[in-house]
Amino acid sequence: MTDILDIAGRIKEFHSIVPEGVEIVAVSKFHPAQMIMQAYEAGQRIFGESRVQEFLEKEKTLPKDIRWHFIGHLQTNKVKSIIGKTSLIESVDSLRLSELINRESEKAGIITEILLQVHVAAEEEKFGFFPKEIFDFINSLEFLSFKNLKVRGIMGMATNTDDNQRILNDFEKIHAIFEELKSNPNLNQEEFNLLSMGMSGDWPLAVEKGANVIRIGSAIFGSRY
Ligand SMILES: *Cc1c(COP(=O)(O)O)cnc(C)c1O
Repeated sequence: MTDILDIAGRIKEFHSIVPEGVEIVAVSKFHPAQMIMQAYEAGQRIFGESRVQEFLEKEKTLPKDIRWHFIGHLQTNKVKSIIGKTSLIESVDSLRLSELINRESEKAGIITEILLQVHVAAEEEKFGFFPKEIFDFINSLEFLSFKNLKVRGIMGMATNTDDNQRILNDFEKIHAIFEELKSNPNLNQEEFNLLSMGMSGDWPLAVEKGANVIRIGSAIFGSRY
């Protein structure tokens, strides 16, 4: 990209076009703290990061009222280092990971808010529970024993394709899982209310299918290389 990035302008533009009730996560991974500050000064408070080390460095120096969403694959050996520093971990993709987040949160005396990541896209390399695994997980006794986890909703990604119908189908599947889980007695109906789907290239389709959290990286900060 050759044009000079107007990050503040893009933040304002997004907040004016995205419907009310939809939260915008500014995905700042791979971008320097100074670019985050430009978005912050334009009023943005929710930022998304996907790598633990990078997140910790930014979290340490940037303003304390930033609400950090962790959106990348989280290795179990790194859980401890981020506990207490996130406002939402969006990418919880296994029972083992939830177990650890629960245990470390208990040790820290806090409750950690999470989303369960669901895998519906065609790509094999994407992370997440398969739909059936999510239901098994929520219905397990083990899940009921996790007192230091608050499941706020689910996160998902559509297949990376130009085929809008395909993308809409993926978002529809994720939305259906969300709706079905909402009535599950093991989840708290008041708290289980976040549906995170949609990125720079497909967020309008996600919002059409009920997303109330969207994760926007390149459309705000430019390309990452
Ligand atoms: C990087 C990333 C995004 C943002 O992607 P853009 O296409 O740059 O908007 C959203 N969600 C997740 C999980 C990501 O890793």
